[in-house]
Amino acid sequence: MPSNDGSRSGFRVTLGLGGNVGDPRQAMAGALKALDADSLIEVEAVSRLYRTPPWGPVAQDWFLNCCALVRTTMQPLQLLEKCKGIEQTLKRQRIVRWGPRTIDIDILTFDDVSLEDERLTIPHPRMHDRGFVLLPLAEIAGDVRVRGRTVSDWSLECDRQGIEAVSDDGDWWRTS
Ligand code: ADP
Ligand code: MG
Repeated sequence: MPSNDGSRSGFRVTLGLGGNVGDPRQAMAGALKALDADSLIEVEAVSRLYRTPPWGPVAQDWFLNCCALVRTTMQPLQLLEKCKGIEQTLKRQRIVRWGPRTIDIDILTFDDVSLEDERLTIPHPRMHDRGFVLLPLAEIAGDVRVRGRTVSDWSLECDRQGIEAVSDDGDWWRTS
C-alpha cells in the first residue's frame, strides 16, 4: 500500500498511453477525457503527443504515445481496472463504428509504491529504458524516481531515435 492513504489530495500517478491502429490520437484523447470524468481521478498534466517508431520484431505502423500525470484516490488495482475498462470501451466503440482501433494504457508509477502482483507491476518494469515513455514523461514528471534515479536522468540516456513530438503543447487531448 502507498505510504499515504490518498484521502487528501490523492496519489500522484503517471500513466503511459499509446496506440498504432486507426486513430490513436482520438482514442488517447477519449481515454484521458474518460479518466478525467471520473470523480476519483483528476488529470493534472498531459505531455505533448509523440510519434514513435515501432519496436520489437513485428513489422507494424508507427505509434503515437503520450504520458499523463493524474491524481487519484483509487487504489492501484482499482485504477488498473478503470484503465482496462476504458480500453475495452474504446475498442468496442471503434470496432462497431469505424473498424479496429487500439489503445494501451499503462500505469507507470503510483506514488512511491512498489508492487509485484500477477495483475500489476509498479513501477512498470520496462519504462526506464523506453524512449517513447521517458521523453513524454520527462516533460510532466521529470522528478519522479524510478529504480533510484529520476525520470529526467533516465531520459537523458535513452534511445530517442525517430521519436518526435507532433503537438505544440499538452492541450491536444482537450480539443481532439
Ligand atoms: P502491454 O502493456 O505489456 O503491451 P497489455 O496492455 O495487453 O500489454 O497488458 C497485459 C497485462 O499487463 C494487463 O492485463 C495487466 O494486468 C498487466 N500489467 C502489469 N503491470 C501493469 C502496469 N503497470 N500497467 C498496466 N498493466 C499492467
Ligand atoms: Mg498495457
